[in-house]
Amino acid sequence: MATMRAMSVAARGAKLRLEERPVPEPGRAEVLVRVQACGVCHSDTVTVDGRMPGLTYPRIPGHEVIGLIDAVGAAVSGWESGTRVGVGWSPGACGYCGQCRHSNRFACENIQGATGVTRDGGYATHMLAHASALARVPAELDSVESAPLLCAGITTFNALRNSGARAGELVAIHGVGGLGHLALQFAARLGFRVVAVNRGRDKEQLARSLGAHDYIDTNAGDAAAALRALGGARAIIATVTDAGAMQAIVGGLGANGTLMVIGGVGALTVDSLDLLRKRAAVKGWYSGTSVDSEDTLRFSERHKVTSMNEVYPLEEAQAAYERMLSGKVRFRAVLRVA
Ligand SMILES: [Zn+2]
Ligand SMILES: [Zn+2]
Repeated sequence: MATMRAMSVAARGAKLRLEERPVPEPGRAEVLVRVQACGVCHSDTVTVDGRMPGLTYPRIPGHEVIGLIDAVGAAVSGWESGTRVGVGWSPGACGYCGQCRHSNRFACENIQGATGVTRDGGYATHMLAHASALARVPAELDSVESAPLLCAGITTFNALRNSGARAGELVAIHGVGGLGHLALQFAARLGFRVVAVNRGRDKEQLARSLGAHDYIDTNAGDAAAALRALGGARAIIATVTDAGAMQAIVGGLGANGTLMVIGGVGALTVDSLDLLRKRAAVKGWYSGTSVDSEDTLRFSERHKVTSMNEVYPLEEAQAAYERMLSGKVRFRAVLRVA
């Protein structure tokens, strides 16, 4: 029997450990993917820390996957072996439930959960994916370089293009890290006036080289006031992982501005009077579905958006995970699998 290697979590809170298991057969609507690369994302803590209903162990994390289709289920059409595909957080969509038929495929009633959380992900040589979860990967993109586009990329690109901001308007990228360094590139190429907001001046030059036209140091004073001095943000893309930091900047929204919350940080407190007098909003944003991933990959290829990565072999997934958690990684950790 053919076997695969995986770095899996045996129980809640356990360290990633190497596991060998039989290569699974794809179900009727699934494909088997031979993984080439998988990014290590802060949301993998959901798997390790057991923070989602429907999560059972052992579980293989990983939702920034690029690989080659190796086998195709009997009911799959439109995909064939050898095609290079990406798989992100979205586990797919049925296509026929009420939500799918109303173009809310992210909220599918039949296929729920997340890749690498409620089903096995890409910290492995092989994985299964529902065919509806697949994105085509443009030929020019390198698999290891581009894996983070399947979560960090799609999340920021999709939040930006759904923020309501139009070309020329002020968009703030809050946090210059794994998500922020991609968000800056997308925002500049989408035609916004881009301001990077981060703690300290260390990353100012980098932020400007990635496309920021202005920079606000949150240590230097009231960042919300600094945004208002620039006219107020039409959108703030909050890539930080701390509720307090988000609360401190929401007052920087301008008229009709929207704070796009793309990471779970628990309860947020906002000033309702400030929101209503500006007609401002705080909006949660789900990263996106496979077709959004495909748009992200094509846009990135066309406009040369690239993730800055630290690359680890699959077997060093625990070290990569710890490095990601430390916040010191510049800027995404990626597992090279094959
Ligand atoms: Zn992620
Ligand atoms: Zn559905």
